[in-house]
Amino acid sequence: MRKIIIAGNWKMNKSPNEACSFFESLSDKIKSEKKVEMILCSTFLCLDSLCKISENSTVSIGAQNMYWENNGAFTGEVSGTMLKALGCKYVIIGHSERRQFFGENDISVNLKTKKALEIDLFPIVCVGETLAERETNQTDNIVSSQVELALNGVKINQGNAEKLVLAYEPVWAIGTGKTCDTKEAERVCSMIRKILVKNYGSETAERVRILYGGSAKPENIKELVSAGNIDGGLVGGASLDPVSFSKLVENVL
Ligand code: PEP
Repeated sequence: MRKIIIAGNWKMNKSPNEACSFFESLSDKIKSEKKVEMILCSTFLCLDSLCKISENSTVSIGAQNMYWENNGAFTGEVSGTMLKALGCKYVIIGHSERRQFFGENDISVNLKTKKALEIDLFPIVCVGETLAERETNQTDNIVSSQVELALNGVKINQGNAEKLVLAYEPVWAIGTGKTCDTKEAERVCSMIRKILVKNYGSETAERVRILYGGSAKPENIKELVSAGNIDGGLVGGASLDPVSFSKLVENVL
């Protein structure tokens, strides 16, 4: 019932020209793929070019961050409404690198998530524990509290639940080559879904996509997604090369 997502998080990589070359390198088959929802999340700088070049394809474009006000004296920020006007469909919110290096916290994640949904920009809300938290058995507490706080006051129902995407990204697995064991990733994602069931009821919870992120690659994506509660991947390193991105899309089903 839930459409599988492969979302590339390019982080601070690629110029607008490189982003367009990447898109051109994808085969026509991938560009028109309908079973898998493909998303490319680039720096703000590439979004305009990517939105234009991908216009007649089934690839959606996403930003990696946004601010929750529409405009005003917020030097250096970009609002969700601006992203929406450009043609972005998605926005990553609360990525662990933003939490770690740029002071993102559960309150700002909540404000951004609410704003994104209000303006029909689909948020990909990231949660996940650090290595120290995992080693001190805090994984479940940390992840559930991040989910509850991110969704505080967020209203979703059966009609719009597919607009909310959550991504379980254990911080220790991001960019390290250490993928979380499928059984464990599934256990955490199923815990996240139980929180959604408690807050929104099972019909709505069953429509929300929950992604896994953390050294996902073409070789392990199918196993992760076969687990049941993992509806695709948020992929960093392996999404930077068009061949590897295409393989992720081909292998996931
Ligand atoms: C990410 O940036 O969200 C990510 C999961 O990175 P990687 O796939 O490189 O671990």
